[in-house]
Amino acid sequence: MINPMKSFPSNNSDLLARSLSAVWHPCSQMKHYEHFPLLPISHGKGVWLYDYEGKRYLDAVSSWWVNLFGHCNPEINAALRDQLETLEHVMLAGFTHAPVVELSERLRTLAPKGLGHCSYGSDGAAAIEIALKMSAHYWRNSGHPGKTCFISLQNSYHGETLGALSVTDVALFRDAYGPLIRQQATVRSPDSRLAQVGETANQYAMRCAGELAEHLRRHHGQVAAFILEPLVQGAAGMAMYPPIYLKRAREICDEFGVHLIADEIAVGMGRTGTLFACEQADITPDFLCLSKGITGGYLPLSVVMTTDEIYQAFYADETARAFLHSHSYTGNPLACRAALATLDIFERNDVIAENARKAKYLNAAAAQLRSHPAVRNWRNTGMIWAFEVDSPHADFAQRCYQLALQHELLLRPIGKTIYFMPPYVISEEEINHLLGATLSLVQAVS
Ligand SMILES: *Cc1c(COP(=O)(O)O)cnc(C)c1O
Repeated sequence: MINPMKSFPSNNSDLLARSLSAVWHPCSQMKHYEHFPLLPISHGKGVWLYDYEGKRYLDAVSSWWVNLFGHCNPEINAALRDQLETLEHVMLAGFTHAPVVELSERLRTLAPKGLGHCSYGSDGAAAIEIALKMSAHYWRNSGHPGKTCFISLQNSYHGETLGALSVTDVALFRDAYGPLIRQQATVRSPDSRLAQVGETANQYAMRCAGELAEHLRRHHGQVAAFILEPLVQGAAGMAMYPPIYLKRAREICDEFGVHLIADEIAVGMGRTGTLFACEQADITPDFLCLSKGITGGYLPLSVVMTTDEIYQAFYADETARAFLHSHSYTGNPLACRAALATLDIFERNDVIAENARKAKYLNAAAAQLRSHPAVRNWRNTGMIWAFEVDSPHADFAQRCYQLALQHELLLRPIGKTIYFMPPYVISEEEINHLLGATLSLVQAVS
């Protein structure tokens, strides 16, 4: 086994101890690691992650929804090696470089029509901050300085910096920091699971859109933008809803002069079965936020795409009218190059069509799992699957996680929801492994 860094440990327990002493891990109660140890990962290949003792885990969550074409993908690796020998970084204020220009041009041709201007950040939350600030600043530059509020969906997740957190409706992430953020209004989520008995998903979505219209009718004078996660609310537990809601939301935002921000950080880059989720409703948002999969899961990068109308409101002689937001690594060439290599793979391998075949295979192969008596609300959008499990265990998510590891599978359930969001390179054999392991753990926890 190659161990490129000589001072690095070459066994599990050494790395564990040192990590717990020096690294504050994200989204974790560090004390819990006393009972549920960290997983030391030595290397990855395709859908598999390996520890130092040769154990392997199928990465069914794409390492927090970022990986598209497998770990250590040869094509992305080659592109990065080449970029590394050419230009690793240059600031983007006053300078430009080929990877950022090419990426912006290619995204413009791929994204819903009219999104011709790309603004860059380093991660998803930064993209949300950019979209929120740009929206409010647009209104200020356009003679509507009072439009400074934002609306989001119930159970929405848009990141955890203070601005992004203000439009995030996940109590666990928000409660401790409530006093630090400006509370924003939420409207009813079109999550199809919340439809009443006898109400179709589309009917329920239209009812929710009606509530959005009612809210904006009263408050549009103060509202800059409505932000949503198109088609799938990820952190809400893969809550899915039909495209008709997006279509209506676009019309309602237009009617009341409110921007629509599409947070496609998780659902963009082919995750929902089209390159961008908004395509399924045939709409162009005012802002399209991308991150996570954009570099194939390699490097932190985010982009906010917007329209010429918004861009023009900032184009003037005065600096104060300019959009004032920057990050040290804005438009990093290595990250842009990884994104270009990712787009190359989409094109060359006809990934969208190939994913549709894989999804069909998985849905058929999952017959036994879907019909298990404890499995509820089986649902699928593109390359995302989710279901709830009837289980008596309060520590369901943790139990599942542990059991899955014993079956060479990496799952991170959200509450009682198990979801799959595998890298697109998953093979039929690996899908069988995923489903077989999940079935046995559902049998064990229900
Ligand atoms: C992950 C995520 C974010 C935040 O991205 P980070 O890179 O984690 O800051 C925002 N919105 C959605 C929908 C996400 O899934």
